[in-house]
Amino acid sequence: MSKRPSVVRTLPILHRTLDALRGRKAKIAIVPTMGALHDGHLTLVRNARRRGLKVVVSIFVNPTQFAPHEDFGSYPRTLNEDLQKLSAEGVDLVWAPNAHVMYPEGFVTRIALEGPAVAGLEDTYRPHFFGGVATVVGKLFAQTRADFAMFGEKDYQQLKVVTRMAKDLDLRTKVIGVPTVREKDGLAMSSRNVYLSAEERRTAPVLHRTMKSVSAKLRAGESLEAALAEGRETIAAAGFAIDYLEARHAETLAKIGSIKDGPVRLLVAAKLGRTRLIDNMKA
Ligand code: AMP
Repeated sequence: MSKRPSVVRTLPILHRTLDALRGRKAKIAIVPTMGALHDGHLTLVRNARRRGLKVVVSIFVNPTQFAPHEDFGSYPRTLNEDLQKLSAEGVDLVWAPNAHVMYPEGFVTRIALEGPAVAGLEDTYRPHFFGGVATVVGKLFAQTRADFAMFGEKDYQQLKVVTRMAKDLDLRTKVIGVPTVREKDGLAMSSRNVYLSAEERRTAPVLHRTMKSVSAKLRAGESLEAALAEGRETIAAAGFAIDYLEARHAETLAKIGSIKDGPVRLLVAAKLGRTRLIDNMKA
């Protein structure tokens, strides 16, 4: 039987445990999550293990990245199942602070971001989001002083934001991006997929399918504008309320005029019923 990882809930114990690992010359990776773990998260853990790193998985549903009208209250919280899933993965510890440990009385500091964080994608629809993400990720990096941090390409703009932040603030933690894990029908795995009704679940893969078709059209020489307009139409016709389908420079997320300005990343966000889904792929 595999052993459940130990769950640490206070900073002194976190520091003591990590110092002991470091004393044995181990390199440490942090895998930040909000729990409700699925194969996407486990792939981040496996990727770190393959690199010979000790692995800390953080589980913290971060209140500062949710707006009041968003799903902080209903976000799935499944700690027991999460620990069960991590048992087989050789995780060294789970860092699961509560909100008072993460944001003690008097906490007032926030990281201010520009560049990829103000690209006009997620930031337009969730203006509070990256400030909250950067603040909690900055804290996780400081708390663990991890050598590496594994982030999914699934949240592509977030990956670019935290990569930039770690560099700009001279943090010792190097961010590593891991490709998106998908269901068999192409839907990107997400903790929020549990919100989808059976019918919505059948529709959801349209996002990935449409991006693949936009990408094929671009490679066949169709203009960016035409391919994206057709893609938006397909997504809307399937019943989504679309926030954006865009092609951006894959590193800076700046707007581009044609695929020659690339490398290009396609990024999409759309609501299906009450569930907001995001996805992206290389064009
Ligand atoms: P979350 O718990 O949704 O905040 O995600 C925690 C981490 O897992 C982030 O770095 C995500 O990008 C990553 N992640 C979530 N879903 C996937 C997926 N389907 N494939 C790869 N990484 C993922």
